[in-house]
Amino acid sequence: MPGDRKFFVGGNWKMNGDKKSIDDIVAFMKTGPLNSNTDIVVAPPYCYIQYSRDGLPANVEVAAQNCYTEKSGAFTGEISPLMVKDLGATWVITGHSERRHIMGESDELVAQKTRFALDSGLGVVPCVGEKLEEREANQTMDVINRQMKAIADKIEDWSKVVIAYEPVWAIGTGKTASPEQAQEVHEKIRAWLANTVSADVAKKTRIIYGGSVKGSNCKELAKKEDIDGFLVGGASLKPEFVEIVNAAS
Ligand code: PEP
Repeated sequence: MPGDRKFFVGGNWKMNGDKKSIDDIVAFMKTGPLNSNTDIVVAPPYCYIQYSRDGLPANVEVAAQNCYTEKSGAFTGEISPLMVKDLGATWVITGHSERRHIMGESDELVAQKTRFALDSGLGVVPCVGEKLEEREANQTMDVINRQMKAIADKIEDWSKVVIAYEPVWAIGTGKTASPEQAQEVHEKIRAWLANTVSADVAKKTRIIYGGSVKGSNCKELAKKEDIDGFLVGGASLKPEFVEIVNAAS
């Protein structure tokens, strides 16, 4: 559990949902109760940002799952951070592993998206994490440090950045990193920030964990010193998301 860093729980709905199922999510979020000491953000598909914003309680912020690097123009199929802001979103996720590994987004593109979204006034959750074969080859920190460097090179103001550590082998697989495995990487990311950016940024920046977080494992993970919250996929569509929001209570 973090010291003076506010717990942050994000729900990534991925490419799921329709108005009916969003109504169900809104209903359990309204019932809560939601810990007021937790920042809560959910990320619907772009087309449901406004619908979700209109339904959700005011203390639940809304994020986009991605955005482009320009404010407007001839970029067919892309969405600008200004558009997601216009619909009521205040955050965006960048560099999710599904963007990196299915859509082929490079470290450089993720970094550009992160910078442009910050410049546009959104909070940003850049995601980093290693694949199974990289972990098995002892390359976990090489990969994460490379992804972090690309992002950090472009960030001047860290106050609206929340880093998500999401080991790719734990996303949507039911395999959670153990609290010790997650803490080890979070501690190393924080040390990297201290050495590369500043001690102040390392102390204040929230590093959240993602990868098969559920009601049943969230409390043990939340006890770890450098785990400042979660990015939740599958379980954010279910009532147990409330339990995860309250994991640090
Ligand atoms: C995610 O999509 O960011 C994620 C962590 O998914 P899941 O919780 O389903 O593993």
